[in-house]
Amino acid sequence: DKIESLDASVSRILVFVRLRPMGKKEKENGSRCCVKILNKRDVYLTEFTNENDYLRLKRLRVRHFTFDSSFPETTTQHEVYSTTTGDLVGAVLEGRNGSVFCYGATGAGKTYTMLGTMDNPGVMVLAIKDLFAKVRQRSLDGNHVVHLSYLEVYNETVRDLLSPGRPLILREDKQGIVAAGLTQYRAYSTDEVMALLQRGNQNRTTEPTRCNETSSRSHAILQVIVEYKTRDASMNIISRVGKLSLIDLAGSERALATDQRTLRSLEGANINKSLLALSSCINALVEGKKHIPYRNSKLTQLLKDSLGGSCNTVMIANISPSSRSFGETQNTLHWADRAK
Ligand code: ADP
Ligand code: MG
Repeated sequence: DKIESLDASVSRILVFVRLRPMGKKEKENGSRCCVKILNKRDVYLTEFTNENDYLRLKRLRVRHFTFDSSFPETTTQHEVYSTTTGDLVGAVLEGRNGSVFCYGATGAGKTYTMLGTMDNPGVMVLAIKDLFAKVRQRSLDGNHVVHLSYLEVYNETVRDLLSPGRPLILREDKQGIVAAGLTQYRAYSTDEVMALLQRGNQNRTTEPTRCNETSSRSHAILQVIVEYKTRDASMNIISRVGKLSLIDLAGSERALATDQRTLRSLEGANINKSLLALSSCINALVEGKKHIPYRNSKLTQLLKDSLGGSCNTVMIANISPSSRSFGETQNTLHWADRAK
């Protein structure tokens, strides 16, 4: 492992796991807890196939995983932010790119981790707050401009969440791949941002059958671009640009299509193109492959300049404690394990 990480061609991805608390409904319907996190690192997953297995503790099959950090259900939004994303905010101010993904099944806590609530803001909001605090600390020696864009990839269609309308077309220009016409919102303070993101989140595509619920097939991407301008000793203007991408991925339950699900409509297969492509890119990066298949989906094209290489890439795998989600939790943990 040590030797590998010295090889510059191998990208290191930081992988974290966050366990959410058991919900009220889950407690009421008799779900059992099948995950335990110890030492802030070790994740133990047990399978309860039936009541007897649970009672005969000796026969429990226990699976063990370790990650860079694993967050038990008591972890605060702030701890999650500072452990996973705090360093990336500093790097963006130095002109580097970084990305943070939330991966996991629907209901596992991705949106809670990324966006959070008004009372408990998540990584997106805490990152912007921290960014403005850091900018204020050093604003005397230069000029910072912060722009936000918030977009959705749904069924391989890109939409602007800050100004909904026609689908956006991806174009290649000098800066890389950009969504033509995407709103670049100039942000001045944190206060305006939470409301902006909440509204943007409401613009995410919903399933026709459940019109108030965000579609589990929608990927939301917040990009924070920081431009820093200052003058050097000979009064020449120096400028650097850093970009932080924070991504609330579509539910992973469809990515690993199991029998009944493969039989689902063609649409179902299409929807996960971006999630599958992201997995392929991450595996290729972790294995140190020369060719990274960014071109295979809209999501990976959009994030091409923020994944791998010298970019900081962070993955937060969200899991539910409920024994009813055992299969999905196991899939998520295996996926996260391969991304290390
Ligand atoms: P996802 O976006 O992965 O589908 P959500 O973030 O919507 O899942 O979470 C599902 C439910 O669980 C929501 O009601 C959410 O508020 C709650 N929840 C998720 N994570 C936590 C947490 N860490 N603490 C408290 N409630 C949580
Ligand atoms: Mg969600």
